Amino acid sequence: MRIISKIGLSLEFMMAVRALRLFSVSWAVTCRCNLSCAYCSFANFEESELGFDQIASLLEQLRGAGMRILRITGGEPLLREDLPDLIRFARGMGVFTTIATNGILLPDKIEKYIGVEGIFVSIDGMERMNDMIRGKGSSSLAWKAIEAAKRNKIPACIAATMTSESIDNITSLVKSAFCQNVPIFFQPATAQRPFSSNKNIHFADEDTIRQACQLLCSLKSRYKNIVNSYSGLKYFSSGYRARTFRCFASTLFLRISPSGNVTSCSRSLPTQDIPNLVRDGVVSCLRRLRVPACNACTCASLLEANLLASGDLFALVNMVTQFFQRKA
Ligand code: SF4
Ligand code: SF4
Repeated sequence: MRIISKIGLSLEFMMAVRALRLFSVSWAVTCRCNLSCAYCSFANFEESELGFDQIASLLEQLRGAGMRILRITGGEPLLREDLPDLIRFARGMGVFTTIATNGILLPDKIEKYIGVEGIFVSIDGMERMNDMIRGKGSSSLAWKAIEAAKRNKIPACIAATMTSESIDNITSLVKSAFCQNVPIFFQPATAQRPFSSNKNIHFADEDTIRQACQLLCSLKSRYKNIVNSYSGLKYFSSGYRARTFRCFASTLFLRISPSGNVTSCSRSLPTQDIPNLVRDGVVSCLRRLRVPACNACTCASLLEANLLASGDLFALVNMVTQFFQRKA
């Protein structure tokens, strides 16, 4: 049944590509976080949060505009007490809903999240390395979150950020995830900290990312739990130069901040005249968004979506293969 609904979602994606219609929304519902990872500035960033009724009304309008996937992020979204209600509301409209979390709060609240289509848990490396970046004890809590999700038949995936320090841990992390039958998705750390022009000192340089992605390409033939496509990994290992895709940010995808500010993509820095869903309305925000002048697709999930929407064969085969591999 899950495979059939994913195939249906893929067909709807193809139709959205043809119509250049909104398909996927990434909504950071809070900037608050209970961790303070070394490469992240969310914990120091303050932004007001929309309440449940405001979000629910906007979700209805976004659904009307075509939204079929909602990716709930933060900060740490589980800090919002109304998160289970928001998820229930989105799913009630037929929206495929996932959460990205550090996992700390998940085991205690897992019953409230049964039914969610996917949980992405951040783990960047083996315990010592992960805890150095993300805080002591964060690795074992994240693995407990994954176990809790699996026990409750919620599809879980590791979201691993590739930092200058974590590259040496890639093989061991892939193997650990493989042994637990957990998919793993890799994202290069950004050069800037999120929502900031401050340099990220944990940013992995071009050579390091090239080596890491070449390693992942060679591991992928054996460890089928690596979610990134060969095309995505090859693009990263080319130093973001071998571009074979169009950017569909602002048409198929958009990002919403806790107060309702809308940007094309998580890589867009805030500007003075940023549209806001509450102030300007959904229709006006969608009209004002433009494809960003961006010469390096550094967001792994949007890169995969851009590749799929551009008809990349390796990305398409990868997606189909992943459908049939996921058992939970
Ligand atoms: S990376 Fe995620 S878990 Fe870590 S501080 Fe930032 S928002 Fe929190
Ligand atoms: S990172 Fe750049 S190329 Fe990739 S989706 Fe965002 S704006 Fe488009």
